[in-house]
Amino acid sequence: MTMRCDIAALAMPGVRGLSPYQPGKPLEELEREYGVRNAVKLASNENPLGPSPKAVAAARAALENVLRYPDGGAFQLKRALARHLGVDAAQITVGNGSNDVLEFAARAFTGSDCEVIFSAHAFAVYPIVTQAVGAKAVVTPAREWGHDLDAMRAAINERTRLIFIANPNNPTGTWLRATDLQAFILGVPQHVIVVVDEAYFEYVDQSEYASMLELVGRCPNLIVARTFSKAYGLAGLRVGYAVSTPDVADILNRVRQPFNVNSLALAAATAALDDGEHLRKAIALNREGMRQITLGVERLGLSFIPSVGNFVCIDLTRPAAAIYEKLLRQGVIVRPIANYGMPNHLRVTIGLAPENERFLQALEKVI
Ligand SMILES: *Cc1c(COP(=O)(O)O)cnc(C)c1O
Repeated sequence: MTMRCDIAALAMPGVRGLSPYQPGKPLEELEREYGVRNAVKLASNENPLGPSPKAVAAARAALENVLRYPDGGAFQLKRALARHLGVDAAQITVGNGSNDVLEFAARAFTGSDCEVIFSAHAFAVYPIVTQAVGAKAVVTPAREWGHDLDAMRAAINERTRLIFIANPNNPTGTWLRATDLQAFILGVPQHVIVVVDEAYFEYVDQSEYASMLELVGRCPNLIVARTFSKAYGLAGLRVGYAVSTPDVADILNRVRQPFNVNSLALAAATAALDDGEHLRKAIALNREGMRQITLGVERLGLSFIPSVGNFVCIDLTRPAAAIYEKLLRQGVIVRPIANYGMPNHLRVTIGLAPENERFLQALEKVI
């Protein structure tokens, strides 16, 4: 006889209250469930161009040596990043995706009785890592869908340990002016770590935008997180990194699993850094695709939140779930974002021109 046992009651309170991250629907799943063929996925902000061929070749070559553990110190990748970014290798912490380093920050610097501040409609991983360590999430209201730095500043108290800022933010595509963000970071008390998540940094084309990397040398409490999942097209390999002072990196590295980034990912990321031409191609393709989609959406009489990323949120002015379902039946996967407090919006990733066209035609059909 088996004993009945309430497993959920055994979980830590923060964990009990969590809902798992909802990823974009995989293509194979859609084709299996809906019987559609040649579906397109514009749901996870992946780079439709894919990675640099140099990165793929490096990963392939690394396959030869998978009997060995990867280099836990990520020597080559850190050296390449240090050169690329103009920082010291000791300032870099590598992650299994940048989600990994976001979690390191939460685990290393917060716990129960601590507060973590982030904005409404901000990236879904912030509440997950906050609650998982038993810290209290303090969610500040958004301003025109973007982060309200004044509200975030006002939310800081003596229990605050961490602030997550996505610049640009996903899913809204909103961004913060460099001068505003700099002033905010410099004004944050030193007992609070600020994580600036720059997952889409490469795509931004705004004169008043800047990476906060320059500030790292002056701010002992700043962490800048970056990823190879978006503009570099390596989402499937899982590799990202944090840049901070060596002191912060030392702390982050204490909670990092020794072999968190696999050898294929290390090789591919190192090679990807060396192909600036491919990166520029991806960025140019995104710019054209953004124009194509936003013009198409306007033509359908719909509005959208101006985005500097590789995705855009379309306002359907009514619950978007039904439209999402109908798009699935047309073989087009986008992302419903009701779980981000945005039930009337759908987020669409910028794809290749024919994919964007397919999306626009499907949208016209179903609205
Ligand atoms: C996609 C994304 C990431 C990166 O996730 P990885 O773990 O590096 O794949 C980080 N932050 C935001 C805001 C994102 O949208």
